[in-house]
Amino acid sequence: MPRRTDLEQKALRFIINNGSQGVLQSELWRKLGGSSREGSRIALKLEGKGLIRREKELCSGRWTYRLYPKRLPVSIDSIVDCPCLMCPEGSRCGSSSNISPQNCEKLTEWLLFLAENECSELGDS
Ligand code: SF4
Repeated sequence: MPRRTDLEQKALRFIINNGSQGVLQSELWRKLGGSSREGSRIALKLEGKGLIRREKELCSGRWTYRLYPKRLPVSIDSIVDCPCLMCPEGSRCGSSSNISPQNCEKLTEWLLFLAENECSELGDS
């Protein structure tokens, strides 16, 4: 039988791999081969450590929880639109130059766009 910390790590990895769509608690324990009682305990522990959040969900007439990771690993997709990647001023841009990230409108606009999108995604969930 796997140790509880092993199961915690496996559970957390599985939840993270499911990303922002989350995973039903019952589905998770089926995949990991644990009991639902043990699963509930581990989900509570992961939530207590601030690693996941649980949201109550009605599934096939029964209440369960959907588990979401609190943090997702950073991917290259998150910066693919950054204006700095294709900026013609890139070689002259720096903190000791007139052209710098501190006063760049393109970078500020991009960051504000990301922040607005993140806020609307949080509002949707
Ligand atoms: S901060 Fe602005 S000026 Fe500097 S590289 Fe990025 S987009 Fe270009």
